Amino acid sequence: MPIASVNPATGETVRTFEPHDLNHIDEMLTRAQEAYLGWRKRPIAERAAMVARAGEVLGKRREELARLMTLEMGKLRGAALAEVDKCATACKHYAEHGARYLADEPVATDAERSLIRYQPLGVVLAVMPWNFPFWQVFRFAAPALVAGNAGLLKHASSVPQCALAIESVFKDAGAPPGVFQTLLIDASRVRNLLADGRVAAATLTGSEGAGRSLAEHAGRHIKKVVLELGGSDPFLVLPSAGLEEAVQVGVNARVQNAGQSCIAAKRFLLHEKIADRFEELFVSRMSALRVGDPSREDTEMGPLSSEQLLQDVDAQVRRSIEMGAKLLTGGKRLPGPGAYYAPTVLGEPPRGSPARDEEIFGPVASLLRFRTLDEAIALANEVRFGLGSAAFTNDREEQERLCNEIEAGQVFINGMVRSDPRLPFGGVKSSGFGRELSSHGIREFTNIKTIWIGKNTGGTATQVAGRRADLVE
Ligand code: NAP
Repeated sequence: MPIASVNPATGETVRTFEPHDLNHIDEMLTRAQEAYLGWRKRPIAERAAMVARAGEVLGKRREELARLMTLEMGKLRGAALAEVDKCATACKHYAEHGARYLADEPVATDAERSLIRYQPLGVVLAVMPWNFPFWQVFRFAAPALVAGNAGLLKHASSVPQCALAIESVFKDAGAPPGVFQTLLIDASRVRNLLADGRVAAATLTGSEGAGRSLAEHAGRHIKKVVLELGGSDPFLVLPSAGLEEAVQVGVNARVQNAGQSCIAAKRFLLHEKIADRFEELFVSRMSALRVGDPSREDTEMGPLSSEQLLQDVDAQVRRSIEMGAKLLTGGKRLPGPGAYYAPTVLGEPPRGSPARDEEIFGPVASLLRFRTLDEAIALANEVRFGLGSAAFTNDREEQERLCNEIEAGQVFINGMVRSDPRLPFGGVKSSGFGRELSSHGIREFTNIKTIWIGKNTGGTATQVAGRRADLVE
């Protein structure tokens, strides 16, 4: 089946691409493997310089690249430009700091010299989603390439033009052929790639189901995997917080990218003292959002990325209402040909309902109330996900308890969860494992090699045989 670029703002198919056939895939794997063997030997400064140039290329082509995102998945124009800029920042970050993150680390032991050295693993397969079609790829690629790996991108089938454009950015930056390539394939091909000896490791950002499948196949072939999966982030508001600010950040945190973000705030947990007022303000701001054409400057929320996703979101909302959630605003598609869904707020969805237990990948907020901090923490942790979390409170003791007791890869106090190249990003529980960004991200696709160099003392066989340190593995 051809891979299609469909504009979700109009429903129109803009372009189609023939998927790569088996011969083509085989050639790309060989090219990747050969490129890796050369790339890993280049000085890290040279690899970093290429990634820095990729950042510059992004800067020069930002309008064109941002337009592709708006076209293929309906991202607001301003957000698309910001995404290209953020990719450039990540390139700059790893170009500047990669060598320090991967520098040898001497360790004092009984050796004459012992150290930890970070070396690349090989060709890394990156299976990526459409929601941040540039950022998800660059936050993997910038560190992985600086570390000396080669990248092979299998992007979401809905963003082929973005996928090819990313390949062209690295080409324009002077990456040797094969160091970064885009495969145009559907998901069913991924398992064979994991079985291929030329692929050393894989990373997947996407749904739980895709993550499970990738990890199963990678496990069968004992290949390292990083998984960045879904989330149902809590957003807690306590009485000491400035309410206006918490409401506005909450709305932004829920409807950014039309709600299609793994770290969007999805469950709003409200202290009973402020819950009524928060609900009133939040519902009024959500219902007043300007939803429409993503290429217009004054639009606040664009379409969902596809008609199918809209149907899925709507079904989750309907089921939640049937199970007892109160519809406070929205809950329906908006008129017109595109995949537009009304910003939606649901009150007190019961356990077992999608709005309480599942991830809803669209502009749908759940409001839940609590009386004590213990109750709030229990609510925050009741879901199977553990990606991000945010809390608004000025009370130091509450802040400390929330930082310690929320089960998530990141806790943001008085701010919205976001990724930053300087800080690690990733989840616990069903949100995945492994980390991207910061020093932790660049080390994920390295062989953390122990090097132990002793002195050949010319000891006798009896002396060597009796060395106690050698008796335990
Ligand atoms: P998805 O359906 O899982 O797709 C993600 C990628 O995985 C696509 O390239 C897809 O290819 C591929 N894929 C799907 N099924 C697969 C399988 N069985 N084996 C191998 N690859 C497979 O997810 P999505 O709808 O694009 O993205 C939304 C999900 O991603 C949400 O759950 C969201 O929370 C999560 N996400 C997580 C993060 C994070 O950092 N933790 C960031 C962004 C998004 P095709 O397109 O060809 O099907």
